[in-house]
Amino acid sequence: MKEIYLNGEFVAESEARVSVFDRGFLFADGVYEAIPVYHRIPFLFDRHYKRLCGSLEAIGIPFPMNEQEWMRVFRRLLDSTPSENASIYIQVTRGTQHPRQHAPADNMTPTVLVTVSPMELPEQLASPVKIEPVEDIRWLRCDIKSISLLGNILLKQEAMKHGAAEPLLHRAGRVTEGAACNYFIVEQEQLRTPPADQLILSGITREWVIELARKAGMKVSEEAFSLAEVYNADECFLTSSTREIVPVTQAGEHQIGNGKPGPVTKRLAELFRAQRPQ
Ligand code: PLP
Repeated sequence: MKEIYLNGEFVAESEARVSVFDRGFLFADGVYEAIPVYHRIPFLFDRHYKRLCGSLEAIGIPFPMNEQEWMRVFRRLLDSTPSENASIYIQVTRGTQHPRQHAPADNMTPTVLVTVSPMELPEQLASPVKIEPVEDIRWLRCDIKSISLLGNILLKQEAMKHGAAEPLLHRAGRVTEGAACNYFIVEQEQLRTPPADQLILSGITREWVIELARKAGMKVSEEAFSLAEVYNADECFLTSSTREIVPVTQAGEHQIGNGKPGPVTKRLAELFRAQRPQ
């Protein structure tokens, strides 16, 4: 029997119930986090926790648990999971309110869900990918990890129609991010990634890669770049918690570099793997 955590209880997945009046269901009024687990150890949880608190604070939902309490929930779920490597999903919505109305009531009790699913190790997934330029039509608070992902879903579908793994999102030619990842380009061995403003979700993997690169003596600038700069870059890669670092060798019709994963991308992927729980 697979267990999940819902509102203070561990329940069988098939028995878990949420009200149809939950504001998450009715309005996508909530936030989430996804945390990779290597060899049963949640990776960079302190950073995911900080980001979760930031998202909750931004939309005015009280913090349901502190860092230790989340960890206790993860431990119990991970202990009953057969996989060594997994992905923890946390979702917190504003809670249940009846009758349905846009304005939230005062003092609502948030709905808290935690699930654990097996995660395939990124090595097996890390073959180079194509990305497709698509205009970023999402709202202007992409820094909040909102469960309202309709924009991301439509943009991902658009990219997939072109045989691409991810959209290369841009606003009037200025690159933002992917539907579920951040981008880096490499020019003359220097890294560039769009700044962590309200137009992107500042990925935990993005932050970690910036730190790894700087520690290894590479120069990294958090500076906006254009689609044309992606097409002309020596290398490009994407980052996310479940994919780590994935080389991008084609953007739309343009081959990037020599069309193969570049040396900087490979070096960072190796550094990343050396640092994750073994
Ligand atoms: N940007 C968006 C829109 C995302 O949804 C995600 C991950 O889901 C990322 C970036 C990458 O974030 P992280 O590295 O924390 O997984």
